[in-house]
Amino acid sequence: MVKTPEKTGPTPAPSEISPPENKIGKKYHSIFTSRLFSTGLRFTFACIMEKVKCLIIGSGPAGYTAAIYAARAGLNPVMYTGPQPGGQLMITTEVENYPGYPEGRTGPDMMEDFRQQAARFETDMRYELISKVDFSGPVHKAWTETGHEIHANTIIIATGASAKWLGIPGEQELQNMGVSACAVCDGFFFRNQEVAIVGGGDTAAEESTYLAKICSKVHLFVRRDEMRASKIMQERVAAKENLIVHWNTEAVAVEGSDAVTGVKILNNKTGETSTLPVSAFFVAIGHEPTTSIFKDWLNLDESGYILTTPGTSKTNIPGVFASGDAQDKVYRQAITAAGTGCMAALDAERYLVEQGL
Ligand SMILES: Cc1cc2nc3c(=O)[nH]c(=O)nc-3n(C[C@H](O)[C@H](O)[C@H](O)COP(=O)(O)OP(=O)(O)OC[C@H]3O[C@@H](n4cnc5c(N)ncnc54)[C@H](O)[C@@H]3O)c2cc1C
Repeated sequence: MVKTPEKTGPTPAPSEISPPENKIGKKYHSIFTSRLFSTGLRFTFACIMEKVKCLIIGSGPAGYTAAIYAARAGLNPVMYTGPQPGGQLMITTEVENYPGYPEGRTGPDMMEDFRQQAARFETDMRYELISKVDFSGPVHKAWTETGHEIHANTIIIATGASAKWLGIPGEQELQNMGVSACAVCDGFFFRNQEVAIVGGGDTAAEESTYLAKICSKVHLFVRRDEMRASKIMQERVAAKENLIVHWNTEAVAVEGSDAVTGVKILNNKTGETSTLPVSAFFVAIGHEPTTSIFKDWLNLDESGYILTTPGTSKTNIPGVFASGDAQDKVYRQAITAAGTGCMAALDAERYLVEQGL
């Protein structure tokens, strides 16, 4: 992992959008601002209603893959990239588990490859976000922040998710330097080392047992004197000899300057604090899907993930398809996001054929 201390956390509100710091982000940002703030002529255009066959909302691995398939199938997709063009991988460094890159690739470089491939098939990419939708009729409506109204025969949702963070000192500063919210993505960089992880649910149980397979020792901090995780997951945690559970323990600071050197912890029963030397700190307290604009129309689970018909990308609204992390609370990987983006485009294409559109 290389150092890219960038802002992470929940997707910002539209008014908080700031450009990513990398070169690709700057390119996106300049187009974004010119679209938003250039001539009145463009703005006038932006207020006219437009009809499209396929609208893609989001530009992470799911959105770009959907765009590649939809464009090659002749659906002339229009994509709104949203606040984070390129998606979550824009804030990471080495991606080593995406097939096709034997030497690995940085997240921003990989997403630039995705973008170029979608552009090659003439995806109409727009650097703005969708702020409202209406799925009440056979034609689905969406509005951009600047009031542009789009009527789409099909919509592919690829708005992703973001990790929840503790908000403790050192956590943001040391992201990509040993602090991570994805054990499957980053655990490998700390194989045979001593690491720590925080959380008490199924995700923490799953990720800590995963880490215990590759790291020499894993410290799991649980705030209460029991885990919320299912019984079977708790049994798996208990069965790992190199996985030490610290009950009633809260992480209060991550220590280190250009790499994690330890985590300061507090025993909330005794009030005692201490520092545990570790080389990585994983946060496994949950994710938040970016689905709030769809909640009045789509069936979501209790955490806000979009529910789809198993084995498909179909939502409860015909013609609206969901892909990527916005509908996946289990795998949350670039490859699974890309796979479901492909499914959504194929489902959209078949839907249009069935409707004679
Ligand atoms: C730090 C980090 C490291 C990771 N490392 C790896 C790794 O090594 N390997 C791996 O496989 N996975 C990794 N992941 C997970 C991976 O990034 C995600 O699983 C993947 O990006 C999900 O893709 P997605 O297309 O569903 O959504 P995202 O990548 O989350 O993209 C969502 C997109 O939706 C857009 N959007 C949101 N709201 C709107 C809106 N209202 N209008 C328009 N657009 C909108 C955003 O701008 C963004 O473009 C990592 C994640 C993080 C955070």
